[in-house]
Formats: sequence, C-alpha cells, structure tokens
Amino acid sequence: MEQLIEGYRRFRAGRWPEQRALYRKLASHGQAPPTMVIACSDSRVDPATIFDAGPGELFIIRNVANLAPPFESGGVYHGASAAIEFAVCVLKVKQILVLGHAQCGGCAAALHDDPGAGTYFLAPWLRMLEKAKARIEGAAEDRQSALEYESIRVTLENLLTFPFVRSAVAAQKLSLAGARFGVADGVLEVMDANSGQFRPVD
Ligand SMILES: [Zn+2]
Repeated sequence: MEQLIEGYRRFRAGRWPEQRALYRKLASHGQAPPTMVIACSDSRVDPATIFDAGPGELFIIRNVANLAPPFESGGVYHGASAAIEFAVCVLKVKQILVLGHAQCGGCAAALHDDPGAGTYFLAPWLRMLEKAKARIEGAAEDRQSALEYESIRVTLENLLTFPFVRSAVAAQKLSLAGARFGVADGVLEVMDANSGQFRPVD
C-alpha cells in the first residue's frame, strides 16, 4: 500500500487541485463519456494514459486479452456484458474502441496447445480466441502479433452479436473501432474500417 498512498498524495497535491472543478461538475451532473474502451488488463496498456484522457472521458472495461464475449442469455455473472449494456443503453456512448496491444500475455497463452490448462476461469475465457487462432493458421512467422490483431477483430465481431449494439450501430448512433498499442515503441495502430488492416497513426 505504501507506494499507492504515495501516489495518492502526489495526486491530491498536483492533479486534484487542478481538476477539482471538473470532478465537482462530474459529481453533480453525472458522467457522460463519449467513448467506451475495451482494453487488456495488462499494466502497461492504460487507455487513460495512452489517450491522455481526463476524468469523465473514457468508460473502460479491462480484462484478459481485451475480449468481449458473444451475447448470451441466461448467464449470471457477466461482468463485461453488463458494462457493455450499461455503456450503450444507459450512458449512450458514441463509440466503442477495442484496444489490443503488443506482447499480450493472454494472446501468448492462447497460442499454447491447451490454453489456461489447470485454471478455473482462464481456460474458458481464452477459448474465445479459438476462432482467432484458426484464422491465423497460415500466418508466416509472427503468430503472436497476428493473434493480437485478430483478438481485436473477434471482439468487434462479438460486440455485434449484442442486439442493442447492432441496433445502435445500424441507427448510426454508435460506431466501433479497433486499435493496437505497441508497448516497446509507443506506436498506436488504428484499424481501417473498410480493409480491416491496421495502420500506425502519424
Ligand atoms: Zn494483453
């Protein structure tokens, strides 16, 4: 805790006084973030840092390998799906960005023969990447990167299985986007909506 408390004290001495009015406004008016980000839990890939975003700007889900599950009814503890429903139906976000990244441990694990073997929750979660794995079968050398790009595409496809996402996209009230962050070089690549290819931002 010591390190966290030190960080908190720096926040209270620095950013808090600068952003006090903004926090007060957000407290009294509520949040209205225009963007939801679905990112990996990886400690090196913080969306607020990468997009230099302040309080109230990003509604974020982070989980292993930046995945959204497909729509399922009858489930009980659907953390990711509940957040997606809240963002789209209650907050009415304008866009959902799926943010993947280089050196993703979740994607690396999914490349093994029996992903998450011996785990309770990781194994079924990583099974969501089976489809992505099948697609990169023919990939030449860098299977890790190929799967990282594909994990973003799978999440974008799964998002469209949610009826409220599909209808908001059809009504042009919501757009979906994909991007991948390079941990080593800090470069953000954004997915072209038409070609599905990723290109670095200038
Ligand atoms: Zn990751």
